[in-house]
Amino acid sequence: MIEPEVISSYVKALVDYGIKEGLAEEIDRWVLANTIIGSLGLPDPASGGPVIENEMEAIKGLHLYAMDTGHPWGDLPEEKFTGRIMGLLTPSNGSMAREFRYIIDDKGPIEATQWLYRISAATKDVRLDLASKDLRWTVSTDYGDLQITVNRSKPEKDPKDIAAPKTGKSYPKCLLCPENAGFWGKPGHPERSNHRIMPISLDGEEWFLQYSPYVYYHQHCIVFSREHRPMAIGPRTVPRILDFLDQFPHFFLGSNAALPIVGGSILDHDHFQGGNWSFPIQSASARKSWDKGSVVAEALIWPMATLRLRARDRQDMERFATSAIESWKSYDDPSWGIEKEHNSVSVIGRKVKDSYEMDLVLRNNRTSEEYPDGIFHIRPSRHHIKKENIGLIEAMGLAVLPGRLATEMEPLLEALVGKRLSVPENWPHLEWAKGLLEKHGNGKSQEEAKGIIEREIGLVFLDALRDCSVYPDDKNGQDGLDSFIESALRKF
Ligand SMILES: [Zn+2]
Repeated sequence: MIEPEVISSYVKALVDYGIKEGLAEEIDRWVLANTIIGSLGLPDPASGGPVIENEMEAIKGLHLYAMDTGHPWGDLPEEKFTGRIMGLLTPSNGSMAREFRYIIDDKGPIEATQWLYRISAATKDVRLDLASKDLRWTVSTDYGDLQITVNRSKPEKDPKDIAAPKTGKSYPKCLLCPENAGFWGKPGHPERSNHRIMPISLDGEEWFLQYSPYVYYHQHCIVFSREHRPMAIGPRTVPRILDFLDQFPHFFLGSNAALPIVGGSILDHDHFQGGNWSFPIQSASARKSWDKGSVVAEALIWPMATLRLRARDRQDMERFATSAIESWKSYDDPSWGIEKEHNSVSVIGRKVKDSYEMDLVLRNNRTSEEYPDGIFHIRPSRHHIKKENIGLIEAMGLAVLPGRLATEMEPLLEALVGKRLSVPENWPHLEWAKGLLEKHGNGKSQEEAKGIIEREIGLVFLDALRDCSVYPDDKNGQDGLDSFIESALRKF
């Protein structure tokens, strides 16, 4: 059993942490301590315990105490227990929303979003501490430097989560609904006690801004509708993006295509993803460009067929981008197997100096007997590296790869260094690894071997992007894309 004075040290450490991080004020000290004591049924405070400086150590200690004493929170997995405790220290949604708005008005959106990010990380709503375990590197290609991350920060699934029935009538209805703010979690749904959402207005409608708990890039935010309704790429998409850019010009904002296979993982709640990050697609240059009054259209040099629009005038951008999206949604190109019923776009907007820039990545989710998973979809030979859909973030040139890769590459690393290739049963990378060993030989240094693997993983990602392109990036494919762009320009 943990001594009462040690328990008191944990409580003091958490209260000190909350005050230091700006989650509470000095006057809140007793209220916070009593909230933690009452919630966990802790003994009366005792003095003389050790000094605990790390808040995670305090949380782990309290978790052990809850388990020892049979407190119901002791049954929570570590990740959920952390969220539950941090929820006790997190300011109310109202006070955070007021502060956010106050900083926007007083100092501007850059300071406001920085403040929100810092607070979201301090409350562990955004797990920056876990994200630091992710692997990140870049791979130089003909399309510029692609960004690769191997995501090791997503927690292992709780067996209770896996067993939880999916009724479709759950509360909250999905992971994005505003009802997640302060939600105590349950099997199959994450703990969101420490989660807060910031109201913003887009095209005259109430939306919310939050940061993504799993940090794929700096200040990765999600902007979602108040109402639980399906994602849609339609006439209001572009005005909403431009409205956001006017309020947060230092962020980009983009939307996944709203169709299965080519869309993101959450299609049943209208949302965008944004953030303060420069993606590879941003540096892509134009292969060909067209002037249409105040709007410039460009066919990008990019592995996925993409139309970029640039305009200074917001209304021109709004009209043209909406018209170009509608053009694609009603465009058939039988010679490339493109049927309009399956067309959608991944849309990305950003501000560059005082101009608006929008990238429309053309998507199509048709399937065939030969390609039941999707014609414009990752080929099965690449599934050992990347199996999930290519969504918005990846279409912009940032690969989010599964954490298993970190350990699965070890046999290949050893073989490149000079050992015999010895792999576990059903190792999914065998054919690829054999090809690599033939191409590069062995006898590499550790550093060289690591470099080869990173580069080759990047090249598989590049091929995966090419698989998803509706037009291949060759002479014929480029002509196909240009024909579409010219037809869209004629309609404008
Ligand atoms: Zn929802």
